[in-house]
This record gives sequence, structure tokens and C-alpha cells, in this order.
Amino acid sequence: MIADSGKNIFDIVLVHKLDRFSRDRYDSAIYKSKLKKNRVSVASVLERIDDSPESVIMESMLEGMAEYYSKNLSREVMKGMKENALQGKHTGGTPPLGYDLDAENHLVINEHEAEAIIAIFQMYGEGLGYSEIISWLNSHGYTTKRGTPFLKTSLVTILANEKYAGVYVYNQAVPKKLKNPAYSGKKKPEEEIIRVPGACPAIISHELFDKVQKRKQRNRERMGSFYSKELYLVSGKVICGICGRIYQGNLRYSGQSHTRYAAYRCETHKAQCGNKEMNKDYLDAYIIELLRNKVFNKRSLKKHIDALNRYISKFNAEYDEHYETIKAEYDELTESLANITAAIERGVITDSLIKRAEDLESQRTALLIQMTNMHQFNPLDYADYEYLLEDFRTLPHNSEKYRALIQQFILRINVYPYRMETVLNLGFGITDTLTETIEIRRGDLYAKFKEEPKCLNEKRDDT
Ligand SMILES: [Zn+2]
Repeated sequence: MIADSGKNIFDIVLVHKLDRFSRDRYDSAIYKSKLKKNRVSVASVLERIDDSPESVIMESMLEGMAEYYSKNLSREVMKGMKENALQGKHTGGTPPLGYDLDAENHLVINEHEAEAIIAIFQMYGEGLGYSEIISWLNSHGYTTKRGTPFLKTSLVTILANEKYAGVYVYNQAVPKKLKNPAYSGKKKPEEEIIRVPGACPAIISHELFDKVQKRKQRNRERMGSFYSKELYLVSGKVICGICGRIYQGNLRYSGQSHTRYAAYRCETHKAQCGNKEMNKDYLDAYIIELLRNKVFNKRSLKKHIDALNRYISKFNAEYDEHYETIKAEYDELTESLANITAAIERGVITDSLIKRAEDLESQRTALLIQMTNMHQFNPLDYADYEYLLEDFRTLPHNSEKYRALIQQFILRINVYPYRMETVLNLGFGITDTLTETIEIRRGDLYAKFKEEPKCLNEKRDDT
């Protein structure tokens, strides 16, 4: 509707009540100013609105109410959840392994599953690894809540769940599963996390829970230094085309001769999504070769910089328009403030008027910050970017600097069972909308390397 308002096909937007127009004052202001620019007015059936200063203030207040209403609604929802938590009630979904729900949605211990929980915490606390615990569980007939065999991920979730020590935690930030950035989740503000000790029946002691958390911390630190020895050139960029998880580096030594084998693979490896792993040496070498052809040569680099400069000039033109809209809104707020000031000078001093003036002032400050943060881009000069070719040729392939250089030009690599797509990022950090996708069949990629690729740990001089 907003987009159509410029086409001269209607001149009024009629709403039942103003809170139908927008639940957020900021959105409302932006949209209204866009409509105003296109000479379209907003009218409400239930609220009378004209263009007098009083009515402008009235309108803002009505919008303020709508916003309050929607904020209040979410607060009510939170309150409901908190009450459930205080009573130890389960707030939706399947209960965690070890528990069932009674008629009032309280967690009650499931004795058989609780044995598995106790075993998992005790074994982990005594220093056993995930695979040992999993094989014990599976060989003793325990399954997950859904009746499937245990995976490493199921153990990670269980070992992080404080409910097992009797502490009801609700609305916690998603735990960082297995170093996977896709799971890191937004951290919730402390006051939104509800923690009620003793609100659900404990299966293990709090001492054991703490012992397990400490061991997990130590393991994370050790794993970190272990993995950093092998440099995965495109780590974090390889995405499982089936389940969407990020492929992780995996290093193993096989056979009598302890042959090194490094790969990127989906965390669920075979067990869940069925996608195949990707030989790390082959993939890294292929990416280097691809970037040599597509980016790191004079002709390609010039071509990409030209394309980016076209993008920049288009962006700058749109920027001017956007800036004008915000500036108009800023001027409007300034005028409203002046009206209120005038009213106050005439002796009309009410709490609501002062509150309104404060609100307008903070909105105006927000717009001012937005305007100062907006900036246009200057066109790029090829000569300033020639150093990239030099870096690509000279940096050692197993250095962090080289990895950073490579990763700057890779948006992501989607891996499917029989093919793979590399999406190049050609926006030079200014935009990620300039891309090029190169597809290769897995068989063709592996055929490129009849022998182990040797290029990885030595300098190349054939660019
Ligand atoms: Zn997967």
C-alpha cells in the first residue's frame, strides 16, 4: 500500500481504528510521512483527526496508546509464563527426557528415563567421552524421548539442562550447541530469564550438575586449542544443503599408518541428514583455484570494482531520497515541539503535555542519530585494491591473514550430496548483494585431485 501510494491511484487510507495502521509509533511516523509526501492522508473511522496542532498531538497520543497496548500484551504473556514457572508447570512442547507431565502440566519423574539421566551425568562427571556414554546407553536399551538412539547433540542438551538439578529455568538464551555459530542465539536480558530453584523434581544433585558444567568448560578450552592447529581455510562458510547446519572441521588419523584425513562435515554426520562430508584439502585447494580465476587477477578485479561502483552510484541516489524522508519527519517533530512549547508558554501545563514533549524530544534525537549515522560511499579506485593480488600471491596458505583474505570473497558454500555451490561475495565489504554462484559436481571436484593436493602448505608463484 505504501509503495502504491506514489501511483496516484488513491488519496486516502481509511482505517477502522488508528491502532490498525501500525502498532509502533516509529513505523507509523515513517509511513505517515511517506504517505504525506505522496499527498495521501490517513483517516480513522472511530477517532476524529484533523490537521490542527491539537489534533496532531491527539493523534500521537492515540498512537502511543496503541504501542502501549501491544507492549503490555507481551508483558502479560511473560507474566503468564512466569506464573507457570513458579508453579513448576511445563510451558509447552514435549517434556525433557526423564520427566512426564501430570494432568496439571507439572513435571513428574519418569523412573526409567531418569536412570538414563543419572547415568549420563555420572559418566560424564567421571570423565567418560560422549561416544562411550552413547554406546552404553544404546546397549542398555535407553532411547531419547522420541524413541531414537542418542546422538552427541542430545547429550549436550541434556548436560546443559538445569531442570535435572531441580531448578526451573524458563526463557533461557539458546545454549551454544557444539561451537556452531548458527545456534548461538541472541542473549536475552537477565530480567527475562526465569529461574526458580526447587520448582521441579530433581533427578541429580546440584553438586553433580556443577561438576559436569566445570568439566564441559575445561573440555571446550582444550578442544579450542586442539582444533586451531589445523587451518580450515573456509571454516564457517560451508553450509549443509540438507539441514542448514554449518559444516565443522574434523580431523582423524586412520589405519596402521595413521594417515591424516581432514574434512568438513555436518555435525549430524550420517546419523540425521545423511549429507556427505567434504575432503578439506580438496575443497580448500578448489576454492583457491576458483578465486584465482574469478577474483585475483587484474581483469576480474577491475570488472568487480566497476560493478561495485555502479552499485554505489545507485545506492547514493536512493540515499538522497531516504535522507529527505527522515529530514521531513525531523522537521515535523520540531514543529510539534514548538507548538507544545507555545502552549506551555501560554500557561497550559499538564503532566501529559510535559510527557508528550519529552517523548517528541527523544524521537527527534533518535532521528538525528539516524541522520548522522547515514553516509554515502565514495567510488572505489582500482589502484587502491591492487594490493589484494599481491597478498593473494605472497601470503602463506596456512596463515590467518590468508584465510581472512579468502573468506572476504566467499559468502557461503552450499554442500549437497552430489554437488556443491560456491557463492562469491563481490561487494568488498560494502554490500553482500553482489554475488556470483559457481556450481560443481562432487565427482568433478574429486576428479581434479587424482593425487593429494600439494599446494596447500607451500607458497605459490604461478599467479
Ligand atoms: Zn546436515
